[in-house]
Amino acid sequence: MQVTIVGGGIAGLCSAWALVAAGHGVTLIEQGPIPNPLAASGDHHRIIRRAYAPDSGYGHAITEAFEAWDALWRDIGSVHYDPRGFMAVSRAPGDEAERYLEGMRAGGWPFERLDGAAAAARFAFLAPDSFRYAFVSPEGGALHCRRIAADLVAWLRQRGAEILDHTRVVAVDGAAGTVRLADGGQRGADRVLVTAGAWTTQLVPALAATLAPHRTAVVYLEPPADLVAAWATAPVILDVGGPTDGYIIPPSGGAGLKFGSGLHKEPTADADRDRAPRPGEGEAVRDLFAPPIARIGEYRVADVVTCAYTFTADERFFCAERGRALVVSACSGHGYKFGAAVGRRVARALDGGDTGALAAWLAGG
Ligand SMILES: Cc1cc2nc3c(=O)[nH]c(=O)nc-3n(C[C@H](O)[C@H](O)[C@H](O)COP(=O)(O)OP(=O)(O)OC[C@H]3O[C@@H](n4cnc5c(N)ncnc54)[C@H](O)[C@@H]3O)c2cc1C
Repeated sequence: MQVTIVGGGIAGLCSAWALVAAGHGVTLIEQGPIPNPLAASGDHHRIIRRAYAPDSGYGHAITEAFEAWDALWRDIGSVHYDPRGFMAVSRAPGDEAERYLEGMRAGGWPFERLDGAAAAARFAFLAPDSFRYAFVSPEGGALHCRRIAADLVAWLRQRGAEILDHTRVVAVDGAAGTVRLADGGQRGADRVLVTAGAWTTQLVPALAATLAPHRTAVVYLEPPADLVAAWATAPVILDVGGPTDGYIIPPSGGAGLKFGSGLHKEPTADADRDRAPRPGEGEAVRDLFAPPIARIGEYRVADVVTCAYTFTADERFFCAERGRALVVSACSGHGYKFGAAVGRRVARALDGGDTGALAAWLAGG
């Protein structure tokens, strides 16, 4: 089988990996460089962790996610995962961190619960008395996205896959199994896989009612000098509690301390628009984190990076068939960690498998 893949984010790259491993021919077309810094998969790092709320449906898929990454590390010959563990901080009864803790209990996963005083003593960047408790788990950490993308591209090229970067697809014809390129060229294949992230609805406008592109920004910070050591050994922080919807990745894999918040996202009609950071945007994201982060004003904004990603209404992943084309969106705010598992599942579905089963798995069923 010959497959044309539109989009070189983690979903497209990992699908290419699994298809090539199964003996299929692949042409992967990416509008920018790989990784594309404007894409959801193009930042330095993303969190992987066990914790999902018990009712999310994704908790069961995490073991498969870890197994798929292990298979990918074996193939590319490198491990781009920093297993520094993860923690969450609860500030209010029933907040996201507390729901994650319930998920840890339901799954039987290992964790240590620390009351506020013990957590603030262990993690000097937390403001004492600003939160209820924290829990830490050894099973999680940071995936190094840019290194994963670079090694996957090299692995794919070595095995004969055709990788066309800086090449934009302007139309997909599912019935014919073809894609049209911006330079007027055309590619045909047995199947077309569209993994175009926040640009998907430009290629498949009928999905605009289902997939909503959003813009957000994350901030890279330099902590006060006396807290550098505390951050260097800290786990990733999945949630800082309360309404912030905030996560933190400590310095890892050569990248700096990153803060991001779900509060700081907004719908966008065009994933390419408004991609320069706005004045004061880094400080605005940073300041959402106090409490529970102490001395927030002493953190210097080093860089601000905008991102575009696509949400379904319930933040579940999604696929749809259009003739010979399969559209897959594992975008949302939590899809990277499943990248290798998604790739294997998509390859199986394209290889005579059951797209309905893929859709159910993607939706956390
Ligand atoms: C700020 C932020 C933080 C996140 N944090 C986490 C996290 O900690 N853990 C986690 O698991 N997930 C996280 N996610 C979600 C995760 O990043 C996404 O789920 C995942 O990266 C989506 O990958 P993708 O391949 O589907 O899309 P993308 O990475 O967006 O890739 C799509 C690719 O298609 C290309 N493309 C689009 N249109 C065309 C075209 N017409 N022609 C050619 N190429 C095209 C784009 O340039 C792009 O490279 C986060 C997302 C954001 C935005």
